[in-house]
Formats: sequence, C-alpha cells, structure tokens
Amino acid sequence: MQPFIMLLLGILFAAIIAFVAYRAKSLSRSGALGAFLEGTIIFGLGGWQWAILLMGFFVSSSVLTRLFSKKKATLNEKFDKGGQRDIGQVLANGGIASIFAGLHFFYPGATWPWLAFAASLAAVNADTWATELGVLNPTMPRLISTGKSVERGTSGGVSVYGTLAAAGGAAFIALLAVLCTPSLDLVLVKPSLIFLFLLLVFSGLMGALFDSLLGATVQAIYHCPHCDKETEKHPLHSCGTRTIQIRGLKWLNNDLVNLFCATLGAIIGFLV
Ligand SMILES: [Zn+2]
Repeated sequence: MQPFIMLLLGILFAAIIAFVAYRAKSLSRSGALGAFLEGTIIFGLGGWQWAILLMGFFVSSSVLTRLFSKKKATLNEKFDKGGQRDIGQVLANGGIASIFAGLHFFYPGATWPWLAFAASLAAVNADTWATELGVLNPTMPRLISTGKSVERGTSGGVSVYGTLAAAGGAAFIALLAVLCTPSLDLVLVKPSLIFLFLLLVFSGLMGALFDSLLGATVQAIYHCPHCDKETEKHPLHSCGTRTIQIRGLKWLNNDLVNLFCATLGAIIGFLV
C-alpha cells in the first residue's frame, strides 16, 4: 500500500477507535487524544499487523476493567485513576510501542522494531491484566519486596491470580504477534515461532514484575487522612482531601512506573 494512503487510513481508523472508546467511557477526552495519536502512528506507519496487537491490548484491558466492576468498586480508590484512562496512562502504556512502530517506518526491513513493539505491548498488557484480575485473588496479596501481606490494590502487591493473569496477558499479545508477524524471514521455521511466543511471554512477565517491584519500593505512595487509606492519588484523593506522601520518590508516579514497565519489555525484545 502507498505510505500516504496507509497514513490516511491510520488517521481514520485511529479516530474511530478513539471516538468509540471515548463514548464507551473507556477513555477520558485527553485519553482519546492520546489513543488517536498512538493509533495513527501504529496503524499509519506500522500497518494492520501492528494495529491488531494494539487493539488486542486496548480492547482486552478495557473489557477487563469493566468485568467484575462491582467487586472492584470498593477497591478502586486505591488506584491512581478509575476506569477512564487519561492521556498520561495512554502514553505510558502505548508510547514506547508507538516509537517502535515509527522506527519500523524508517527501518522497514528490520525485525527488531517489531520485536520491541510486541514485547512492550506484552509487558503493559501483562501488567494491566494482573492489575484488573489480581484483585480477585481469594487471599490478600503480598508485597513483592518484603513478602508482607498487604491490602488488595496496594502498589507492589503480588498474588497467584495476579501472576497468572500477567502470564495470560503476555501470552495473549504473544499469540497475536505469532499469528500476524509481518516479517516472514523471521518465521520460516516453526521453532522460531515458538521462540517468538516464549520471548514475548518472558518480556511481558519481566515487565509486569518490574512494575510491581517499582511499586513496592520507589513509586510515590500517598495517604488520605480523611479515609485513612493508602493511595496512588495526588494531589487530591477521590474524596477531595489532599493526600500526603508516605513513601517512594515524589516524581515517580504510576504513569512513569508503567512507562518503565513498557520500556523494560521493549529492551528485552530489542536485545534478543
Ligand atoms: Zn479520602
């Protein structure tokens, strides 16, 4: 396809997705703008294979956010933001992937942009699935750094359900990647397809683990004096009270942690 036509199609496709997601309240207004930019780059400069992976992440995470919403409602204020994703979250999750889709445009014959792209999406998908499904774990999660039992939804808390969900989220993107890998020279033989799958599951899991590790150690965590609850929200808690930082680095919010998760996934994909 002509690059110009593809870019136009990318703009159209991204605008439709962003609009639908905004109307479905999966994205805030700024989040829709972020998704439009990412969709345009990934579809317009990458192609349909790239768009399918992005959609896999986007649709599955939106669906999981909605599923079990009643059960999660009581836990929700523990998280930085609600179900509606804003531009910070959208860029933190898909920004790195967009960069590699853009790099593919300049290095069309190279395999590494695709690997890093898919690995980055596997990482953010693993992390999102773990966040959405981990809260359903029958027992309290444990802090990844110390093993101490913590409240559900606490940053850095890990559980059996959460870890399985992370593996599932990574495997889902890995499967899509195997099904639509564009560079055929990579996948002439079956073993390399299996290798690709395992590589993406591995990078996804590592990214999600790294996310938990940062959440347990250096991410900025706040306390709401009104609700007496630990939260990622700042400056104001969902109740409107100003939150006070209790641990972590001031500048390292949840979006940046997600960005590092996406980056680590991409680095593993890139190095391999
Ligand atoms: Zn509060």
